[in-house]
Order: sequence, then structure tokens, then C-alpha cells
Amino acid sequence: MDTVDSEPKPYFFLVPLMAQGHMIPMVDMARLLAEHGATVTFVTTPVNALRIKKIIEKIKDSQLPIDFLKLEFPSEKVGLPKGCESADMLSGSDQIIKFVNACSMLKDSLISCLKEKYPSPTCIIADMNQPWVGDVARELSIPRLTFNGSGVFPNLVTYIIRHQNIFSHVKDDKELVTIPGFPHRLEMTKAKSPIGVQRPGMEKFSEKRLQEERSADGVVVNSFYELEPLYVDSYAKTAGKKIWAIGPMLLCNRNTNEMSERGNKASIAEDDCLRWLDLQKPASVVYVSFGSLAHTTFSQLAEIGLGLEASGWPFVWVIKDGDKSTDVEEWLSNGFEERVHDRGLIIKGWAPQMMILSHRAIGGFLTHCGWNSILESICTGVPMITWPHFADQFLNEMLVVEILKIGVKIGVQYPNNWARDVKDDNNNNVMVERDDVAKVILELMDGGEEIREKARELARMARKAMDEGGSSSNNLIELIKEYGDTGKTSAVEA
Ligand code: UDP
Repeated sequence: MDTVDSEPKPYFFLVPLMAQGHMIPMVDMARLLAEHGATVTFVTTPVNALRIKKIIEKIKDSQLPIDFLKLEFPSEKVGLPKGCESADMLSGSDQIIKFVNACSMLKDSLISCLKEKYPSPTCIIADMNQPWVGDVARELSIPRLTFNGSGVFPNLVTYIIRHQNIFSHVKDDKELVTIPGFPHRLEMTKAKSPIGVQRPGMEKFSEKRLQEERSADGVVVNSFYELEPLYVDSYAKTAGKKIWAIGPMLLCNRNTNEMSERGNKASIAEDDCLRWLDLQKPASVVYVSFGSLAHTTFSQLAEIGLGLEASGWPFVWVIKDGDKSTDVEEWLSNGFEERVHDRGLIIKGWAPQMMILSHRAIGGFLTHCGWNSILESICTGVPMITWPHFADQFLNEMLVVEILKIGVKIGVQYPNNWARDVKDDNNNNVMVERDDVAKVILELMDGGEEIREKARELARMARKAMDEGGSSSNNLIELIKEYGDTGKTSAVEA
């Protein structure tokens, strides 16, 4: 047996956070890397693999060099229900800490797989919320990049807030605080900041995440340079590392069906949905969805429904599984569905979001401002109505409305992630009334021509960035070059 030099082969291990909004873009990342000559191992768990079964089968058929490594997820060991393997399956904030602990327990199985079953990767790209991967990379001397599924603007603001502990002494969560060292004046309240509600018991995790963010070799972001050039440059300077903007990665999917297949199985036959949309006038339908994690109470759902009805515009309204209840079902069937049947499509469960947004009938997206939803809206040229719920979503709203000017705000001031009814813990009003829902829909749908044109322009820019020779496409090629040639040698039979 001799050891000979061989052409180094780029080989990436991807470790996503088990949450729809983090897994979906990383599946795209796997595909992009593989299409550009890299080999990829995508780390997942049995339940998550089942959810993306369709896409795994497609990838197998396409013969792209991507394999899916399923690690057993220790849900029961940490006190979570069996099969609870994704953030959208958690039923309350107390389960978050258990989930985070279960994730970090994957460390040993990943190390032994890497030592015993897999050749050494040339790079690991891990979600920022999987900081334990830093230990794996160090133990095996593998370069490590972070990814967190968000854009550059929210990443930069969050970085400054976390690393400088900006809000630690702020008592009044309504006080406007200036973000120091930001490339322009930027103020925000503690309530709207991404640190939002601090959960006791998460301190160790947060500290580890900070450390691993600092020590990573670089950051991969699902954005494109032309969307937020000032912030890409400033983030690189502030964090002191390379920022690889390689998105919008969803555009690696050739058609909208492929894009929709990356998450859960849709709860509506796609043909039925398309037939309904085909009957509507161009740009006349409001699409309403709050992603996979945000919860909505029955009374808030009713206000949304009544606001949609009062607006007079056609709508597609997604009510996710976790928000369905007997109260909701009864309310819908006690007159509401009947009254709006000729102009409202209600999807109960999981919607084929990208397919819907891509349809010419869609004229606006009432969104919770999850980064993937924003990118999907940008790529389809659909202007937004913003209703952030928590985490980076208030920052994303700022980017959409105040900086990019492709949306209008519904006006929420406080986070509401675990579906509080009317008031939050601090007695702040978190309910949005039906009149406000109707008013903002009319504002966008009856006017908003400038916003609409800007949204279309950004859609064109996004495609250009991902096309051959575009900024994201070039960055991806450069990234593979940089992290694919660590000069490993391979052992071959003499
Ligand atoms: N999504 C979907 N159908 C649904 C709900 C969500 O396809 O019914 C997809 C959506 O297109 C996006 C992702 O799930 O790709 C949600 O990610 P986002 O960052 O918008 O929000 P999160 O769920 O992380 O809060």
C-alpha cells in the first residue's frame, strides 16, 4: 500500500439545524455544491429524512454525489416525545432547551462516523445554532464555516448585539437603543431585538454559540451581494472573516415544483391549488402564511380571517397544523368559509409556498418575515406585508420595509412566538385587530406601484446573481476552490 498524491477532491459535510427554515436552504446548498463538483454528506435524522424523502429520492435519481447521513436523534433521552426531531414539533419554550441538548448529543455519533465510516471532509458547514460542531471540527482538524439561514443585515445587527451585549443593562424594552459601529444610524428596542425573550437555562448554549461564531473560518449566507452590499462589507470587517454570499440558493431548483418539495408534503393537491390560482386575476391574491414555527391563537386567527374578508381581495390563507383546533374548525365552518368561498382558499397544514408565490395571481405576501419566506418573495417579485413574530424577524422587516422598500408594515411592536392571546408577559398588547389587517392589505393591494416595481427589479437582480458569472455563482466557485484543496493525500493499492 502506497500513499500517492491525488487531485484533491472538495468534500463538504453539512450539519443543519433541524428546523424547516434551516434544513430547506441547506438542502439547496448541498445541491449547489454537488452541481459545482463537490461531494456532499448531509447530516440529518430519521424523522427529518422522512420529511424530505421526495427530495432525497430526486437527488438519488439525479446521481448528484450527495449522501444523507441519518444520526439517531435522542429525543426521549432528553425528555422530548419520541419522534420530536425538528424545532417546529416543539410545543413550548421549555422544550427548546431539551431540543438544543439533544442536538449537542449528536456530537459523539458524528465524530465516530467521521473517524470510522467516512473519508475526511475538506470542510464542514454547520448551522450557527449547532455550536457543538466546532468541537468536532477541531478534534478532526477540519476547516469549519457557519451558516444560520438568515440574511446579512440581520446577521450583522445580531452579531453586534450579541458580541457587545448591547441590551444587557436595558430595563425598558420600549427604549430605542443605537446599534454601535453599524455602517449607518440604526436604532431598535429590546423588544424587537433578536435576543428578545431570554430563556433561563440557555446561557451556556448562548455563550458556546458566541465562541464558535468567533472561531469559525468564515460565514456562508443565503443572500446575494447586490441585495445588501454595505452590510456584506461591514459584516466581513466586524466579524473579521470572509462572508460567502451564495444565494438565493432556492434558485438552484429549476422549477417551482422542485422548490416546493424541499419541505413537508403539501396538504393540498398541487393541481387543485394551481387550478384555483389560474382562475384569479394577475396580482390580485394575497398569500398569508407565517412559516413553520410561529404559532397563532384562535382569536388572532379569527381577526386575520375577518380582516381578509373585510379587505375584499382574494386570498390564500395557510393555517398550520399546530394552530388547528376544534374552535378554529368550528369558526371556519360556522359561516366564514361559506362567506368567502368564491375568493378565499384556505390551506390547512403545509402549503406548497414556492409554487404559490410563483403564480402570476399573487399580488402580495402577508408574512411573518422568516428569512426564507422573504427570499422567496424577493425571487418571485412579490411585495410584502410584514408581521414579524420573533428572533431575526423584526430585523428582516426593517430590511424589507425601510431599506429595500419592498413592503409595508402591519405595525406590530412586540414579539409573540408562543401564541399569546391579546397580552404578552409584560402586559403589552400583541393582538392585531381585523381593521388593521384589512387596512394594510388595502394599502398594498390598492396602491403600492413603486413597491411592486422595486420588488420586480430585485427579482431580476437575484436571478442575475445566481446565473453563471453572477456574484453568488462566482462566490460559490471560489468557496469550493478555497475549501476543496486542503491537499489531502489518498491511500491507493500499489
Ligand atoms: N413553508 C412551506 N409551506 C408552509 C410553510 C412554510 O413551504 O406551509 C416553507 C417556506 O417556503 C420556507 C420555510 O418553509 O421555505 C419557512 O422558512 P422561514 O425562514 O420563512 O420561516 P420559519 O419557518 O423558519 O419561521
